[in-house]
This record gives sequence, structure tokens and C-alpha cells, in this order.
Amino acid sequence: MQYLSTRGGVKPVGFSAAVMMGLGTDGGLLLPATVPQVGPAELRDWSDLGFRDLAVELMLPFVGDAIPRADLVALIGRSYATFSHQEITPLVQVGGQRVLELFQGPTAAFKDVALQFLGNVFAYLLARDGGRLNILGATSGDTGSAAIAGVRGKDRIRIFILHPAGRVSPIQERQMTTVLDANVHNIAIRGTFDDGQRIVKGLFNDLHFKQQYHLGAINSINWARILAQIVYYFYAWGRMSRGDPGFRISFAVPTGNFGDIFAGYLAKRMGLPVDRLLIATNRNDILTRFVTGGPYAAGEVHSTLSPAMDIQVASNFERYLYFLVGEDPAAVRALLAALDRTGCMQVTAEQRITLAGDFDAAAVSDAQILDQIRETYERHGYILDPHTAVGVQAARHRADMVCLATAHPAKFNDAVHRAIGIQAPPPPCLRGLLEKETRCVLLDATEEAVRGHIRSTLAASGDRP
Ligand SMILES: *Cc1c(COP(=O)(O)O)cnc(C)c1O
Repeated sequence: MQYLSTRGGVKPVGFSAAVMMGLGTDGGLLLPATVPQVGPAELRDWSDLGFRDLAVELMLPFVGDAIPRADLVALIGRSYATFSHQEITPLVQVGGQRVLELFQGPTAAFKDVALQFLGNVFAYLLARDGGRLNILGATSGDTGSAAIAGVRGKDRIRIFILHPAGRVSPIQERQMTTVLDANVHNIAIRGTFDDGQRIVKGLFNDLHFKQQYHLGAINSINWARILAQIVYYFYAWGRMSRGDPGFRISFAVPTGNFGDIFAGYLAKRMGLPVDRLLIATNRNDILTRFVTGGPYAAGEVHSTLSPAMDIQVASNFERYLYFLVGEDPAAVRALLAALDRTGCMQVTAEQRITLAGDFDAAAVSDAQILDQIRETYERHGYILDPHTAVGVQAARHRADMVCLATAHPAKFNDAVHRAIGIQAPPPPCLRGLLEKETRCVLLDATEEAVRGHIRSTLAASGDRP
């Protein structure tokens, strides 16, 4: 399988190069040159496979000859051995609605589904092809711990994660700083999350430094993350359809950077019988406004009870735009240039019809999040996390929709407690964190301080730069 950039400026590359590249060298996002098709016979045959076996079948055409089947089987086995539920992403019934629990991984958030896989793909490719990777990222909480859990203890990989000192929740901070593997480097900065992002961006823009120290990112634009997320859409369909290719399924997806729901869109393009895909946003509702006929114009980011979705411009939306404009990179570039120039993106009337055919959308306020957590708990005894509550609330008139549950409620117990007066019991991976040993350095929020720390850490480790 070959991969292309949404902006047309990357020579076609295979799966391995696409994963190691992350963001396209032309600033675009990578996509498979053709979307593999899954026919009715395969849908039927695969409908009773477990998550891992299904993942192998679905991923093989995308991976091509980059990873032999037996190696892919082992790699997927390793990736999901860290999950605490034997089904990996169990589908549970909550009253009349179905909830797909994506939070059974080692950090209790849905990002584990993709990052456990990505960590193993990185380790596999580096062991085979040689080289090193030093991952650098900034987090406001959730992504950092899932990224660390994805690569801890892996050869040839180090990870440096910046978080704003004292500004992430104690549990989230401990999820990162209690990981004591020698290849994990937590950095608390004396500043905000925005300072962290600015520093990381600055270091990536220092091309000499980036190349010399093999810096890589682990953010939501890596193709392998989308690939891993396709699997649970097929898995949920298999559980509900019992193999009937005429059965159509719908999903409600709490959306931030558009990676999760884009995987659902791609599953549909592959041939999964999907009826509706519902984009559920919080108060940061640029996508909901756009899909329901308004302008695509970014505003200020608002803080909400569902912080992992506090995003205005969703980075993965560009992957969808590529399909919306008929797989024409020049048209993608023109739309992005106009957005840059005017702050607003215009699409044609015909594209608007396509967009409305592809997605439904709804925005949910903080008050509605709390109401939904309360209602679901009172009626069914099930505790939703505030992100999942956005999806369940958006789908409240659609009993047929499968709602994706993106975090364990115990990760967001402040909101849960506000809604129902009690806290959700923590799963094993969140227990005892406050008593564990931690390791973390505190640095000034400057590029120089972080650059110096990376240099001295790598020099002391003996890794060749
Ligand atoms: C990242 C995240 C989301 C949003 O997913 P996207 O792929 O960015 O749209 C939703 N809920 C939780 C808990 C998350 O961590």
C-alpha cells in the first residue's frame, strides 16, 4: 500500500515510511492511495472474530508487505495484552442505548487503543531498520500518559513529555510521573500548556536539532493511530449484526481532533454498513456549526468539563476535506489558503450536501453534560465520564446509536462528583497512584531550557545523537 499527502507534496511512500514520517513533509496528512474494500462475504466471516483477530484482517491490506502477517499478529497481541478486559473494547447495554467502552487500556482513556499499537509499530520498525526515535510532546493531561504508556521500556525509543507544573490534575500528573522506566522523561515546566506547545513547536522547527536528535511526534496526526481506531467500528458492528450484511449501524462520537470519528468515516468507505456518524462536540462547536450549515470559522478555545475536546481547529479534519473535494490535493491547498487568508472556509453547495450526508452533528453544554451523567446514573446505575456524556447527550433521541465511551469516569471524578455527589470507583490502573514513587524534572518554560535538558539527557544515556 502506498501513502499520499492530502496536500500532494509527498512522493508516494509505503506504510513504514508513512508511520515514521508522522506529519507529511509538505505539512499535509498522509492517507492510503486507495481505500481497501471489505465485501459482504468478509463482513459475514469476520463478524464473530475477537478484537485482535479482526485487527489483523483489517490492518493487513493497509500494512501491505511492510510487516509480514506473523509479525503483525504478534505485534497486535503485544499491543492489546495490556488491556484489562478480554474483549478489549466491550459493547455494553445501558438502558436502551449501547456504549462501546474504549477505556480498558493501561491509562483508562481511549487513546490507549491507538498508542499501544503505535508504540509497538515504532519499536518493531526501529529494531528491524535501525535508528532511534526521541519522542517529544506537550500535554494538558490525557495524551501524555497514554503516549508514555505506549513506549515505556521500549528499546531505541525515548520520550520527553512536557506538562504545565501544578496545572494538571493530581491523578493525571501521577499517571505520567510514576512511570519510572529509564526511557521516560517527564518535564514539568513553570508555565501553561500553551507554553509547552510553543516550546515543542519551536524545537520541531529547529530542523538541525530535530534531525540531529531524531525527534518525532506522537500526536493525533500519525496514520497508524487512525488505522488502530478503525478496528472497533467493525468490532461493534460484528457484535450487533451477528454477520447480517444488511444490518446498518450508527455511532455517536465525542469529538476533539477528529481522529476518532475520521476512523469511523474510513470504516464506512471500506464498506462497513454505517448509517449515521454523529459528531458530538462540547461548547467548542466549530465542527457542529459547519456541518449544520454555518461557517467554518475558528473562535477562542473555551475550557469545559470535557477538556480533551477543548479544540477549535481539528487537525484530522484535513483528511476528511481531501475526500470532500474529490481527492484533489490542489483543492485542499486552495481551501486551506483561503482559510488562512480570511479566517473562514467556504465550500460549494454540492459539497455542503455531501457533508450533511456524511455526518450529523450536535453541540453539548457543560450543564447538559452534568444532567446527562446524573440521568444515566439515576436511571441505569452506570457512570459516564464527561466526554462520553457529550456523545450520549447528543444521541439522546437516537436509541439505535452506539455511543463511544472515551474515558473511564474515575479519571474525571470532579465532574462526576458535581453531577451525582459520589465518585466513580477507580480501575486498578488508577489505584494507589498518589503513594507511588515519582520522577520528574522542573524547568523554566523556555526553548533553551528544554533543548539543554534533552541534550544532556541523551549525552548521559550514551545514545549516539
Ligand atoms: C482525545 C479524546 C477525545 C477526542 O478524540 P479525537 O480523536 O481527538 O476527536 C475524546 N475524549 C477523550 C477522553 C479523549 O482523550
